[in-house]
Amino acid sequence: MEIYNHPTFHMACEQFDLVADYLDIPQHQRDRLKFPKRSMTVALPIRLDDGMVKVFTGYRVQHHLTLGPTKGGLRYHPSVTLGEVAALAMWMSWKCALTGLPYGGAKGGITCDPRNMSVGELERLTRRFTQEMIPFIGPQIDVMAPDLGTNEQTMAWMMDTYSMHMGHTVPSIVTGKPVSLHGSLGRRESTGRGVAYLINRAMDVTGLTARNATAVVQGFGNVGSVTAYSLAKYGVKTIALSDVNGGIYNAKGIDLWELEKHIAKENTVVGFSEAEPIANGTLLLLPCDILVPAALERQITKDNAAKIKCRILAEAANGPTTPEADEILKLRDEIFIIPDILCNSGGVIVSYFEWVQDLQSFFWTETEVMDKLFRIMEQAFTATLQMSRKQNFSMRMAALSLGIKRVQEAKKLRGLFP
Ligand code: NAD
Repeated sequence: MEIYNHPTFHMACEQFDLVADYLDIPQHQRDRLKFPKRSMTVALPIRLDDGMVKVFTGYRVQHHLTLGPTKGGLRYHPSVTLGEVAALAMWMSWKCALTGLPYGGAKGGITCDPRNMSVGELERLTRRFTQEMIPFIGPQIDVMAPDLGTNEQTMAWMMDTYSMHMGHTVPSIVTGKPVSLHGSLGRRESTGRGVAYLINRAMDVTGLTARNATAVVQGFGNVGSVTAYSLAKYGVKTIALSDVNGGIYNAKGIDLWELEKHIAKENTVVGFSEAEPIANGTLLLLPCDILVPAALERQITKDNAAKIKCRILAEAANGPTTPEADEILKLRDEIFIIPDILCNSGGVIVSYFEWVQDLQSFFWTETEVMDKLFRIMEQAFTATLQMSRKQNFSMRMAALSLGIKRVQEAKKLRGLFP
């Protein structure tokens, strides 16, 4: 479909086609599984602080509604397009199915640069987007969450706008809310902690010891920073990390707690006195045990896949590795890949817990949340590893196959409508 024309959407389709061939999915079922059920594009006029009116474009893609409501993040970034959002929605579907959650995948985004907007402008934009989405969302229809460039405050504005429209408070309309507005304990940290948990499991498999291991993290936002702190608790040393402004490197390990003080003042990792600067491209090629891309899609490409020097590639971001890079990595047995739909699934799993708690108005302790999270992640990791070994194919193919097969079965059982 032309409207989704975007490299990231083509990449998601290529991955799907490979798995569909392996699973022998009949041609007539493939388009139903691949193309989104619903896509919305909305014009969002808001008044800027200088009094001018600017129209932004917002998107929401609901990939399939066969297993329950759709679930997925909302992204604020200058390069957001419908095709990118559709790819991310498709990956969400496979991720939810892999981890056994009662959801289809969704994703949304607004093409904007949140770093150059005031809090007031962001609030008006978020409320306007929510208002436009009201006919298409609901706790049993589509539930949003934070992603790149959005956070708990964004979710609080969305919940408030929706609740004011309904005439009563509806916490279950979004997840990733502040805990004081019925968010879940542990949600903010869940994706990064899940990434670190799986890295620990991958270290068991590859025979690495946490105490001697080094990590490189691209993208020191929510997911990247929590991953680095959690790895530090296991004893892993982070030697390089970056944000959109640039990277920093210290072969002896970066003191994350000192770095936190620097970020509080400067709002970037750049300029940290106890490390030297490093370019983002070079950072990915540093020799290390664990490489964690935790920023954007398409970072490991055919140009650098042969040159990365890690033992474990933990895909915290969505779609950080292109299919061409995957072909190269397939020949590099020494690298153990934790594929994105498994690696960063901790976020949507705890989002699911938040939704369940909100629907029941009955809240769990952080220990209960983490315990349940790690149990689901362990199951998904073990199933993926077993399938990869049994079929002798990559962890990515195994994870995608498990997810896609579950959605295919559900569609077959329900019939043509959902
Ligand atoms: P975030 O906005 O909190 O952080 C993103 C970080 O990446 C920031 O530090 C930003 O400066 C940095 N960055 C942006 N462009 C960069 C570049 N070119 N080079 C290096 N760094 C760059 O976002 P997040 O929530 O941490 O999400 C990161 C990734 O994880 C995204 O791909 C997102 O889709 C994925 N993800 C997030 C969650 C979640 O719960 N937040 C769940 C699953 C997947």
